Amino acid sequence: MEIAIIGGGASALMCASFCNNNVTIFSNEEKLGKKILLTGNGRCNLTNVNYNKYSYNTNIENYLQKFDCHKTIDFFNSIGLMTYVDEMGRVYPISNTATSVVEVFANHLSQKNIKVIESQVEKIEKLENGFLIDDKYHFDKVVIATGSEPKLLDCLNVKYNKFYPSLVALKTKQNTKRLSGLRLSNVEVRLQGFCEYGEVLFKDSGLSGICIFNLSSLLARQHNYEDTISIDLLPKIPKEKLEELLINRLKNNYKHMTTFMQGIFHKEINKYLLNICKINEEEKPNKNNIQKLVKNIKSLEFNIIGTYDNNQVKNGGVDLVDLTETLEYKWIEGLYFIGEICDVDGLCGGYNLQWAWTSGKIVGESLC
Ligand SMILES: Cc1cc2nc3c(=O)[nH]c(=O)nc-3n(C[C@H](O)[C@H](O)[C@H](O)COP(=O)(O)OP(=O)(O)OC[C@H]3O[C@@H](n4cnc5c(N)ncnc54)[C@H](O)[C@@H]3O)c2cc1C
Repeated sequence: MEIAIIGGGASALMCASFCNNNVTIFSNEEKLGKKILLTGNGRCNLTNVNYNKYSYNTNIENYLQKFDCHKTIDFFNSIGLMTYVDEMGRVYPISNTATSVVEVFANHLSQKNIKVIESQVEKIEKLENGFLIDDKYHFDKVVIATGSEPKLLDCLNVKYNKFYPSLVALKTKQNTKRLSGLRLSNVEVRLQGFCEYGEVLFKDSGLSGICIFNLSSLLARQHNYEDTISIDLLPKIPKEKLEELLINRLKNNYKHMTTFMQGIFHKEINKYLLNICKINEEEKPNKNNIQKLVKNIKSLEFNIIGTYDNNQVKNGGVDLVDLTETLEYKWIEGLYFIGEICDVDGLCGGYNLQWAWTSGKIVGESLC
């Protein structure tokens, strides 16, 4: 049997690893797994040993039962990749470089007689007995592993849910240019009753960082990026306690609000807070000002108006309801979908690659 895998990313490599038939990978990039090199800031966060129902936009439990994070770790260990788990359950190569992942895959696949065609597939046609790719290549079965690139779906008339950027920095109505590049650590970011604890990074007119990325996936799943995010700058100090602490500072007899604020936050954050609270920097500190400050320190609001361009994944794709247990499209025999082209998106922390590995393995094995 002749199998074509379109795309040379994470899911394609996993699928090829488990498929014992004649496999041809069509990749529009000169090096297989090139995108893996970008993941996890170049370290490749392979998977995560913790997950819950919010980790993905949809229930993939029955797929994970077949190939979960532990089996994924075992697989990578078996092909020569040494791994470690960090304090948040994230799994990385022990070398801390994504290159190791690509190298062990290359080595593993080199033992398998896989054909690679470096080309951008433009057209796939369903024939009575298989598929015709770019009017030239005939295959019995085709696996689509093109990430969030839907062109081939349109060409095969496959139904899919529209794509929305997820794990992405968010644009705010507020101009944050003066804060751009600043990081807030140990803050609590809230959206629609959901709460993320960690780091926020300011952009010119927006917010980034893992907390923001994770909350962006909530918006992506709702297909609406207009909302309000609030940041508790000091989540470990209850409101009343903070007010008491700041009122105590009045004893120091500061002449201006600027000096009163020194030693609390970065000077640009102090300025931003005073501006939001409509407090003049030259004013003498008083209880009224402190109350306004406390309110904003505990809940600094940002109106979200959209996303930046560089998303890590997309919400949308071929709905799992249209796929069988082995991820074959129910309406076209012999056509399979793996990885991000399926409507499965996860939070930051290794969940998206886990889906690429899980779906790739399931299809690869089913095509043996
Ligand atoms: C900057 C960044 C960092 C990330 N970090 C992490 C992380 O640390 N952990 C994590 O779990 N997830 C991470 N992700 C998400 C993760 O990379 C994806 O979920 C995963 O790569 C999806 O795998 P895939 O095989 O479905 O698609 P991809 O990896 O996108 O691969 C698809 C491939 O198909 C090729 N292709 C598309 N169309 C065609 C065509 N017509 N013909 C031929 N080839 C085609 C593309 O060029 C691409 O090479 C990150 C994403 C980004 C952008």
